[in-house]
Amino acid sequence: MDLHGKRALVVGLARTGLATVKFLKEKGSIVSTSEMKSEEEMKEVLQRLKELSVSTEWGGHTMKNFLHQDIIILSPGVDPALEPIQKALDKGIQVISEMELAYQFIHIPIIAITGTNGKTTTTLLIGEMLKEEGKKAGVGGNVGEPLILFAEGGDQWEILVVEVSSFQLEGIENFRPRCSVLLNITEDHLDRYSKYEDYIEAKIRIFKNQGFEDIAILNQDDPIVMRYEERVRAKKFFFSLKEKVEEGASSNGKEIFLKLKGLEEAYDLSQSPLKGIHNVENMMAAIIAARLFGSSKGAIERVLNRFRGLEHRLEFVREIEGVSYYNDSKGTNVGSVAKSLQSFQEPVILIAGGKDKNTDLHPLKELIQGRVRRMILIGEAKERMARELGPLTDTVMAGTLEEAVLLAHRTAKRGEVILLSPACSSFDMFKNYKERGNVFKEAVLRLENPS
Ligand code: ADP
Repeated sequence: MDLHGKRALVVGLARTGLATVKFLKEKGSIVSTSEMKSEEEMKEVLQRLKELSVSTEWGGHTMKNFLHQDIIILSPGVDPALEPIQKALDKGIQVISEMELAYQFIHIPIIAITGTNGKTTTTLLIGEMLKEEGKKAGVGGNVGEPLILFAEGGDQWEILVVEVSSFQLEGIENFRPRCSVLLNITEDHLDRYSKYEDYIEAKIRIFKNQGFEDIAILNQDDPIVMRYEERVRAKKFFFSLKEKVEEGASSNGKEIFLKLKGLEEAYDLSQSPLKGIHNVENMMAAIIAARLFGSSKGAIERVLNRFRGLEHRLEFVREIEGVSYYNDSKGTNVGSVAKSLQSFQEPVILIAGGKDKNTDLHPLKELIQGRVRRMILIGEAKERMARELGPLTDTVMAGTLEEAVLLAHRTAKRGEVILLSPACSSFDMFKNYKERGNVFKEAVLRLENPS
């Protein structure tokens, strides 16, 4: 790809956008940028952009800026459906994701992970397992470093483990991972995708350029993933919590059984600090990938025994008088809340709600009826959630997250779990899911411990 002298527009100027600008400047492109947020909100970036002398546009995207380019590069969070992007495409301008741009300059194998939930956890697990074996593995994409920073990385890296979102997959042309992992597909982002089918199609694009010699790791228990299985040309490995697999991994929740190319191994999970049945799925996918790319059983076991998971993902906060508090602020869709609820045998007081994504709440009904003793709703979505799910349990509403924590605390009984798992995004009340999780944790830590 020759970028010299080309007019290139970078859309979205967070960390990845900035790294992309630098890369393009080094390649001799004439770079301009466009960002939805205002200059005020992006002060830090502004300073660093000044040093790079590029033309900038803040607080929105103007059509003119988009239609006079040779190439447009989208940062991970940018929706390709935006009008100026679609108009540029109509005009024949090349529009690609940052991931595609980086891919053109990466010459080492890539393991790419996608799915509605579990991407970050699985990406980090695979990265750790390879590094534990002494491999020079880079971890990038939505987690870790922007992928563009690995472009032309010389012999610093031998393999890359990359988390990819559906937006990024929409902007690929030749991106071809040596190994792709599809964890699950459940409804999410219907506020951004007009149809569920479009969201699924975007995820499936991960397999688009793979050939017979590549590898695909698929969730055998996921009906939607399996519906599209025929479209996968790569060699398939499966994982399942429900049944044995021909090649891949299965589990009873206590051990993971691996069957790969004639090899059979069992991995004991009794020492694993990772809670939740969904994490067994993530571990199965990670073990298959790591083992196929050279990690030994010993290295994988060491990682399984120490990997604690990530903040805001079913994170244990504290226990007060036999009541355990969990922060699952990253539980921003129905699929992840379902998994979180399935992870507890104890009765749950669920704190949910936030910015409504208009997804179907139906998959939560049985779990709420069976496992949630009380539900406390907050945020914009609280009325709809109360209407559709409220009658299934004892449901109340709260004005703030802090109030919800107090309400939960006052009514909790010994042996119960208080879980923040919102099924919604956070932008109605918070900057992001991290801020929401931190507010929850602070409120929980402030509670009086009577003993
Ligand atoms: P992602 O990067 O895809 O958003 P994370 O690893 O950050 O995934 O986890 C996001 C949320 O989804 C958390 O609430 C977590 O508890 C839940 N989760 C993690 N893995 C899975 C999985 N395999 N299936 C369903 N939910 C999951």
